[in-house]
Amino acid sequence: MESTRVHSTVKPMEGQLIRKWKVYPGRSKFCWNGRFMCAPDYSGFFCCLALVVVTGALFFARDCEYLAREVTPAIPVIGGLLFIFILGTLCRTTLTDPGVIPRATPEEVLDIEKQMTEQNQNSSQDAANGTYVYQAPRYKEVEIKGRKLKLTFCHTCQMFRPPRASHCSRCNNCVERFDHHCPMVGNCIGKRNYRYFYLFVTSTTIMCLYVLACNVAVIVLRSLKTNVGDAFKESIASVIEGVVCIGSLTSVGGLACYHSYLVAMEMTTNEDIKGSHSSKRIKDNINPFSHGSCFKNCCFIICGPQHPSLMDRRGFTYVQETPGTNQHTNDGIQHV
Ligand SMILES: [Zn+2]
Ligand SMILES: [Zn+2]
Repeated sequence: MESTRVHSTVKPMEGQLIRKWKVYPGRSKFCWNGRFMCAPDYSGFFCCLALVVVTGALFFARDCEYLAREVTPAIPVIGGLLFIFILGTLCRTTLTDPGVIPRATPEEVLDIEKQMTEQNQNSSQDAANGTYVYQAPRYKEVEIKGRKLKLTFCHTCQMFRPPRASHCSRCNNCVERFDHHCPMVGNCIGKRNYRYFYLFVTSTTIMCLYVLACNVAVIVLRSLKTNVGDAFKESIASVIEGVVCIGSLTSVGGLACYHSYLVAMEMTTNEDIKGSHSSKRIKDNINPFSHGSCFKNCCFIICGPQHPSLMDRRGFTYVQETPGTNQHTNDGIQHV
């Protein structure tokens, strides 16, 4: 992993063309020359990966070998497919751009400032006594399916956030359809990786139940041949796996149930916590992002089109050295 902090690691020559990910001002980490990105705190990903791999290895080495011999060879095949699926969805969740919205360019910042200044001047002229200067609020309103939504201004990214976007303080980025920041997988969960996150938690829950059922089957089959005490002694690996699976089920199982509810409602964790679409606070507070039914919402989240990344991480930008310093600032970056 290479850091994106311009001041600490990137020292391009004056007038040098450089990959955009190398000068991106957020805290995200990039790897393989900008092809993949994740949060700055990605250690949770390796813990998660180690837990999946160690439990899986124990399962395949002991229980699967016994059950394939005594019951059917289909058991390790099903387990293997689930295991590969879990690893794939975990890696996709961690390494995919969650939907980061690029910061405003200096030209866009100037344009927004100009618009706000004009708005302030017009409002000031309308002020009755002229003794104060009216400051226009830094938000805009949009209407979606008859419901008015407020777009707040992000002072860090210098832009109005689109509906459902939020600024992640850990990654220091605005993320589209922001769900939450997940330290467990080491990434923000947003528009572009929510599907993989959901599939990861649901498939891990299914895998835990599958492994637990196999553990019980191994102990029962062994106890039929000897006795219960000896069966437990011979199945120490199964007992350890069972304990790990029950522990995992209490966290990841609950997460899978909660996110199944959110998927069916087409809602994010962020919106659910804030009560954005709750009819308790506002009557007839409909969710304008719902597709009409739980089934359609599930289909859209799981099988809907994948949105393109807005970041253009591997594109080039022209970097100029700020005169009189050895540092590069946003103003010194010309986007090409
Ligand atoms: Zn922001
Ligand atoms: Zn984040």
